[in-house]
This record gives sequence, C-alpha cells and structure tokens, in this order.
Amino acid sequence: AKRVYLFSEGSKDDRDLLGGKGANLCEMTALKLPVPFGFVITTPTCREYFENGNKLPTLLEQEYRVALDLVEKQMGTRFGDPENPLLFSVRSGAPISMPGMMNTILNLGINDEIAEGLSRKTGNPRFAYDCYRRFIQMFADVVLGADTHAMEKVIDDYKEAKAYETDVAMEAEDWQAVISTFKTMVKFPEDPFEQLRLAVEAVFQSWYTPRANVYREMNNIPDSLGTAVTVQSMVFGNFGEDSGSGVAFTRNPSTGERQFFGEVLFNAAGEDVVAGIRTPLAVDAMQERMPEAYAELLESQAMLESHYRDMQDIEFTVQEGRFYLLQTRSGKRTGRASVRIAVDMVREGMINEKEALLRVSPEHVQSFLHPMVDPDAERTVIASGLPASPGGATGVAVFSADEAVNVEADGNKVILIRRETTPEDIHGMRVAEGILTELGGMTSHAAVVARGMGVCAITGCGELRVSVHEGTATAADGTVIKRGDTVTLDGATGDVMLGDIPKVEASTSDDFQTLLSWADKHRRLKIRANAETPEDAAKARELGAEGIGLCRTEHMFFASDRIDHMRAMILSTDRKERKRHLAKLQEFQHADMLELYRVMDGLPVTIRLLDPPLHEFLPHDEDDANALAERLGKDPREIHQARNDLAEVNPMLGFRGCRLSVVYPEITRMQVRAIIGAALQAREEGLNPFPEIMIPLVVNVREIRLISEVIDRGIAKVTKEKSVSLRYKIGTMMETPRACLGADRLASAVEFMSFGTNDLTQMTYGFSRDDAGRFIPQYLDAKIIEDDPFVSLDQRAVGRLMRMAVQESRQAKKGIKYGICGEHGGDPRSIRFCHDLGLDYVSCSPYRVPVARIAAAQARV
Ligand code: ADP
Ligand code: MG
Ligand code: MG
Repeated sequence: AKRVYLFSEGSKDDRDLLGGKGANLCEMTALKLPVPFGFVITTPTCREYFENGNKLPTLLEQEYRVALDLVEKQMGTRFGDPENPLLFSVRSGAPISMPGMMNTILNLGINDEIAEGLSRKTGNPRFAYDCYRRFIQMFADVVLGADTHAMEKVIDDYKEAKAYETDVAMEAEDWQAVISTFKTMVKFPEDPFEQLRLAVEAVFQSWYTPRANVYREMNNIPDSLGTAVTVQSMVFGNFGEDSGSGVAFTRNPSTGERQFFGEVLFNAAGEDVVAGIRTPLAVDAMQERMPEAYAELLESQAMLESHYRDMQDIEFTVQEGRFYLLQTRSGKRTGRASVRIAVDMVREGMINEKEALLRVSPEHVQSFLHPMVDPDAERTVIASGLPASPGGATGVAVFSADEAVNVEADGNKVILIRRETTPEDIHGMRVAEGILTELGGMTSHAAVVARGMGVCAITGCGELRVSVHEGTATAADGTVIKRGDTVTLDGATGDVMLGDIPKVEASTSDDFQTLLSWADKHRRLKIRANAETPEDAAKARELGAEGIGLCRTEHMFFASDRIDHMRAMILSTDRKERKRHLAKLQEFQHADMLELYRVMDGLPVTIRLLDPPLHEFLPHDEDDANALAERLGKDPREIHQARNDLAEVNPMLGFRGCRLSVVYPEITRMQVRAIIGAALQAREEGLNPFPEIMIPLVVNVREIRLISEVIDRGIAKVTKEKSVSLRYKIGTMMETPRACLGADRLASAVEFMSFGTNDLTQMTYGFSRDDAGRFIPQYLDAKIIEDDPFVSLDQRAVGRLMRMAVQESRQAKKGIKYGICGEHGGDPRSIRFCHDLGLDYVSCSPYRVPVARIAAAQARV
C-alpha cells in the first residue's frame, strides 16, 4: 500500500490513515489556505515499523524521496543544498489528537555548511544560527536522548556572562559560540537524509514514550493506532521582528464565548508559544505590527470554523509579514465551553441537536458540576494568573509530578505548582486537584491539558516566583507557599490563596439545561438514582432523576439514633426481645421511607431489602464493643461471643442478601411493614408513592417465592388494616452468575429485575471488590485487562451473562422491566452497553444523573 501522501493527496476524512494533523493539513491545502507544503507517512507504516522489530520498511525512503522531490519543486528550494536550503519539520500526529504527547523535530536538514548557506541566502545570520542551535537541541533531545538540561544551562550561563535578558538579545556570534559548545556535548549526523531517517524513526518511537502511554490510557485510545509522520517545509517565526508565531482558538476555550481568542509571540518559533517558556501577547497585538497577516488570520479562522463546523484550535506562523497556517484541529475546551459552544452552534444553525449532544463529553458534563470557590467567601489573594481552566481546588502544594503522585497516594488532594508543565508531568497532572504555573499562557501545555482533564488550572501567574528545587512559590509581597502548605486555586478568576477557601456548587447555566432537555428528548433509557437520604433523593430529582433505582436500606440503620437498636436486635437471645427492637427499627424505617416518598412523589422508589452480613453492624473494636455492652446493659462477653459467631471467612460470599430474609423472615416482615405502611401514610397525605421492593443476591427462584410470600402477607396485612389500595412491585436483583443463568425461571416470579453489577462482576471474576485494588493496577499495566471491570462494565463476560439474562427473562415474561444499579450505571460506556442491551433504566449516584442523561442520549442519536 501507498505509504506516503503529499498534502495535495489527502483530506480531513483520512485521519485514520494520515493522523489528525496530516489529514487537516491536506484539507487546508485543498482549501487553498497558506500551508507550507509537505507530505505524510501513514499510520500503518508505524505499525509496520513496530511489527518489523523497530525497523523502517526497506522501500520507505525511496517512496518519500519521490514526494520530497515534488515538495522541493513546489518550494523552489532543495533539501540538503547549502546554496538554497529547504528545512523540514518532522511532526507526529495520531488519528486521535494527543497534543504534545509525542515528538516533533524542527529545522531539520541543517549542518555547518547549510547554516552558513542559510545565513548567506537570507542575509540573516542571527536567524540562521538560531535555527541551527534549535535543531541541535531538539535532535539531541528527541533522537539522541541527550541531557537537554545541560544544553539549556549552556545557554543560560552564556546569557548571564553577557548580561543578556532574553534569547532575542543573542546575536549570530553568540549562537555560534553556543553551538560549538553543543558540539562537544553531542554527536549528530551531518547528512540531512540521515537526519530525516532518524527523525522519522524517532517520531514512530515516540508513540510509546511514557507520557504518550499514560495519555492513551487516560483517554482510552488503543495502542494499535500508531502515529503518522508529517514532513513539512519550515517557515520561520524567528526570522525577525516582522515575524512571529501564535496559537488561536476560534472561540474562547474556557468560557465558550463566541469570540476569537489567541496569543502570539513576535520573533519567536512556534515551539516557544506551545512550551509556555515566554508569556505571549494577546493576538490583537498583531493588528499594529503585521496588519495584513492579522487580517488573513481572522479570515482563515472564520473560514476554518465554518468549514469544520466546530471550534478550531489553530497554529500559525508569520515570516517577514507573510501568514502561514501550520495546524488546525477541534479545540480542547472546558466543560462549560463545550456546552456553550454546542448550544450556540445549534442556534447559529451550524449543527443540529443530535450533533450538539455528541459534541459534549460526559466527563465535560461532570466537570460542569464541579464546585467553585465561593465568590462571597473572604479571600486573601496572594497572586493572580490566567484563569486557564475553571473550578475551585484546594490541596497540598507539591512541586513535581512525582511528588504529586506520592502525596496523593497518601490520601491527600494536591495542587501541582510548576514554572511550566511539559508532557513529562502528565502523571502528576492527572492526580492533581489543581495546577498552577508561573509561565505559559491560555494555550500553554498546562492550560490545554488541564482543560481536557476538567482540572482547575491557573497559568502565567508571573507574580509568583516558583522554585521547584526549594519547593517554594514566592509572591510579589513576599508571601511564600511552601511545599506541604494548603493552597486554594480559583480557576474562574485566576486567584491563588493560602488555606482552604470554602466552595459552592457550580451554578448550572441555561445552556446546560437546554442541552439536557435535548438529551431527554433523544434518549430512550430512563435515568434513576441510587439514594437513601431525602437530601440525596432531592438532589437526584433536581438533576433529572426519574425515580430511585436503589435505596440501600441498611444505610438507614447506621445512623447513630438507631444503630444500637439494630445491634440489640442482632444480639437478642429471645424472640420477644428481638421483636421489641424490630418494632423500634420499624418506626425509624417508616419515617425514613415516608420522607423519601415525599421527595420522590409520583416516581418509583426501588427499595432493596437488607443486604450486608449482620456482623457489619457490630462494633469493630474492643473499646466500642465494651461501650456498647454498657449501653445495652449486657455482659461484654456476650458481644464478643456474637462477634465471633457472626464472623465469616468470606463475608461477601457469606450470610447476606436474601439469605438473611430466608433465615430471619421477621427482619423482612419489619421492613415490608415500614415500606408499605409509610406508602399508605403518604397516600393519606395525598401523595402518589410507588414502592418497588427488590430482593438482593438471589440464586434460585424458590428464594424469591419464599420471600415474596413473606412480603405479600405483610402487605396484605397492612393494607387490610388501612383498607386502601396501593401500587407496588416486587422484583429481584440480578447479581449472581447463577441468577443470570436461570433468569427465565426468576422472571416468571417477579415484576422487575435489576442488575447489581458490582456483585455480578465480583462473582464472575472471583475478584473481591474490596481487595482487588492490590493487583488491578498491575493487571492494567501488564494489559491483562483493558479497564478496571469495577469501573467500566466488562462487556465480554459480565455483559454476556447480562445479555443472556435479558433475553431469557423477556422470553419467559414479555416486556419485563429491566434496570441496572451500581457503579456502572453512571459510566458512559456501560450506559451505552445497557442501551444496546435494551434495558429500561440505569441508576447511578445523584451527581452522575446529568452525565447519564447525556450518555443515554449519545447512545441513541
Ligand atoms: P504538537 O503536536 O506537539 O503540537 P507540532 O507538530 O504541532 O507538535 O509541532 C510543534 C510546533 O512546532 C508547532 O506548534 C509549530 O509552531 C512548530 N512547527 C511545526 N511545523 C512547523 C513548520 N513547518 N514551520 C514552522 N514551525 C513549525
Ligand atoms: Mg501542534
Ligand atoms: Mg449486591
């Protein structure tokens, strides 16, 4: 197959083949936008390279030399020709954008002789030697793996000796001096074609750099994709004062406002902007200095946005007043911005509602709900930077990515403080609650990555002097943030404060509500919430829940005013004593249920019967046990005895779930009286309660029959007393493999079924979900599993059990209602799977409800 494509041979639809960057460069070329010409080596070539034992295919060089000749013709310059040199950038680019995660080499095709030629031809020696030294540094870093800090230090020392403030002060002779020192430090090939070969290889290799691996893992990008290599003619923003480089967004990536937004550095290469080593100027600074280029920039950005029908992130360079585009892609944005842009674009007629729904990632919706720093709380601002990514964050100050990982692992929230971040810091940024950098603008690495991750970030906080070495950040007024101090970042204003400043819930915008209403219009799955308390239930309802999918009744017994009754009930030695405590518990449960019915008026409330093993309710340590004995007027030995008697080797596979109902029907009777009694009282209050009683951990239809009988009798008794009718259902949880394997029989005995996929996963894998944390990370690292099955539903095996269960149940009982509760109910990929399975609803924690609404719509549109 063809391995090399000229920019004139591809289009934006070739992402898989040419990578996002390559495909978009082709597209822009076709749109007649000013793109320096070049060619792309395909992603399958990358796979070939690795399959070949890390060797470039033999014919590849021949193939790209043909393309290279054509590029030379178009450019009127020649690669490797000192008299009229052509330099290349060699750029990475995967089918899915991984900004900054892989390597790029600029100014390739230069050596002593060519640098001299470039200087002669351009009459700009300062520029020629700046290019040369940049090339050596990048090549040393990316291809040779040399210590580039030492090279940076050579430059810093040189500038200090000469008392130069910035790189711009460096003249040709200065760079030449630096270059001759570099040459004593690294050896690089003089032959441009060898440089190119090695660079292509290095870009392929960068597919597996640790930061790229982490990024793929975080974003669920398959390893098999590989990267394309784009080889493009260089244009030079570092040519002089009428040159420069910049990055721009067609809309504000932080707020989503429809307002062109960009940053530029004059007399600088593009890498300087992206790396965030100098804080750039707002893009309108171009207006005065290079008005024609600015006009072209404005025109191209508008054209690109309407062509792609999405907010674009653009890289451009101006050389001697001439404008060039180097990249366009759909811009990374905050949750807030993504919602606003999607809704605005529908209003502008650019996209339709379904497209808008697909533009917003469920994680973005989640970040939308992140708390923000209370605007009314007292705050002493020690420094202010750019509000690069919103949200409020408080944590312990750390100054390196490794430190962030360690301190976070100890159970702390961390704020990562750096001068700037690089892709090497990605593992630390991932665990950070917030990110603060001294340098860099709104488009720096830190800003882009943080927005993508939905993490609060402040960049370009130049009022702080960050010393990573000493672990301090010193504000202009002398206030110091030391390693370990608690700091708060306000990503909405850019304010940095010492201490923990209170947060408030994010206020949801009208756009957010609009988008959710579109989601509701297009989804089929119903969304319920897992909630026990009236507060959680109210929150869930406010966020759009259409019922409670799981009310875990045991949580109601842990409250301090009733836990002792629960314990006394468990410890009772005779029936009378047990009855007395059950009666007390019934009162509490009744009151709790009534509250819940009030909040959920008119909506179904699924109530799971008592589930955990009884010993979970007993005190866990000696002192508590003794105190309990004293309160209950019992002999401490009785309590110890009971603890021993109830202890289980394998409690999660032990005496729990419906097994409790079988052995202690009086507990179930108490629960049913409370559930139904409260519902009847709610009816009397004029409400419309709809309880659904759910039997957990079933393995066999006879369990259901036996317990249903207890429930039915209980209900009959209560309703007769009150002589009113009530709407209710009895159902079962599907959480053992055996239940799934015999689903048809179970279905015949119930009115609804709900997958409890936490237990089902646990029992299908034989992984204890309480202990699996010890080895799951290693399983993920070793790629034994792709995802933690407790986070994202294992569709292959657990999903297969579910599919069987749904099919067989519906054969046995047409249209029986099916749901899922448990962690997976809020996971977007699992939600898609549940949609495809034909479930009726998913149930998740209240704060996941909006995410689930969007995910359910995305599964449908
Ligand atoms: P990344 O994917 O990390 O953004 P790029 O391939 O976009 O890497 O390259 C990084 C920077 O190098 C670009 O932002 C751009 O400024 C600069 N660059 C790349 N190619 C060229 C080129 N042909 N001419 C001038 N600058 C370039
Ligand atoms: Mg780029
Ligand atoms: Mg369970």
